[in-house]
Amino acid sequence: MSEKRGRVFSGARPTGRQHLGNYLGAIRNYVALQDDYDCIYCIVDLHALTTLQDTDRLREWTYEMALDWLAAGIDPARGTILFIQSHVPQVTELHTIFSMVTPLGWLTRLPTFKEKVRQQPDNVNYGLVGYPVLMAADIALYKADTVPVGVDQAPHLEFTREIVRRFNHIFGEVLVEPQARHTEFPKVLGIDGEQKMSKSLDNHIEIAATPEEITQRVMMMTTDPQRRYRHDPGRPEVCNVFSLHQFFSPAEVAQIERDCRTADIGCVDCKRLFARNLADHFAPLRERRAALAQEPDHVWDILADGARRASVIASEVIAQVKAAVGLP
Ligand code: SF4
Repeated sequence: MSEKRGRVFSGARPTGRQHLGNYLGAIRNYVALQDDYDCIYCIVDLHALTTLQDTDRLREWTYEMALDWLAAGIDPARGTILFIQSHVPQVTELHTIFSMVTPLGWLTRLPTFKEKVRQQPDNVNYGLVGYPVLMAADIALYKADTVPVGVDQAPHLEFTREIVRRFNHIFGEVLVEPQARHTEFPKVLGIDGEQKMSKSLDNHIEIAATPEEITQRVMMMTTDPQRRYRHDPGRPEVCNVFSLHQFFSPAEVAQIERDCRTADIGCVDCKRLFARNLADHFAPLRERRAALAQEPDHVWDILADGARRASVIASEVIAQVKAAVGLP
C-alpha cells in the first residue's frame, strides 16, 4: 500500500439503500478518510446472519448499499478496498482462533449482548455471543491501526483492543491494536425527532431519494413541539430540522435560527428550504448512482476485485497468526 498515515478498517451490515444517518455518521467520513489513509471498507454480510431475518434479501441489500457507497465517493481507484466480508473466509479462521482467547464472561456481560437477548429471546444463538469476536477478527485480519467509530460503537472497539492485547500477550506481538477515530456527527435522529434514524423504524430519509421523495419525508418531520401556531416563536435548539440544517444549509443557518426565534419563518417554509438543500446536496450522488446502476456487473466486479486485494493481506496475516499460535 501507499505512504499514507495508516490503515483504516470499517464495516457495516448490508442494509440496502442508505439514509442520512448512515451518511452523516459514517459514509462521508469514509470518503474523507481516503485522503489520509489506506482504507478498507467491508460489507459485513456474515454479521447480518445473526438475526436470520430477510436473508433472501441480503444480495439485494449488499448491492444497493455498495451502489450508495460508491456513488458517495468511496473510490477503489484511490486505493480503497471495498469488499464483502464472506468473500474473504480467512476472517472465520481468525474468529475461531480469537474465540479461544476470549473469556466467555467478557461476552455475556456486554450491554449489546444483553440488549440482543431482550430483542430476540427466542433466538439467542452462538453468533450473537460471538459477534464482537468476529468484529475483532474483521479489524485485526487487516492489521488496521485506525477505526472510525461513533460514540455508541466505542465500547465495541475497546473490546477488539482487549482481544488483540490478550492475543499478543499470549502469542507475541503479531497483531495491531487499533485506535478509535471519532466522527463529528455521531447521532442523527429520524423524522420522528425522537429515535435514532433507522430503516427498521421507518423514520429515515434515503440519500438517493428523488427530490419529491425527500420533500415528502421532510414534510413529515417533527419540529419544536411548543410551536403550535405560525406566530409562535420557535426553539431551534430542540428542532431536528434545524440540527440537520446546520449540515445541509450552512449559508442560511444563522438566518434560519434568527427567523425561527422571532417567528419570521414558519416550519413549512423552513422544511421546504431544507428539502431543497438536501436534494441539491445529493444531486451529484443521485447522478453517479444512476450511472453505476446501468452496469450492475461492474459493481459486482468492483466488490470481487476488493475481495481479491483484501485476501492478499488476510492470507499473510492469518499465516502469521497460525505460526504464532503454533498450528502446524
Ligand atoms: Fe424547526 Fe425551522 Fe420550525 Fe424553527 S422554523 S421550529 S427550525 S422547522
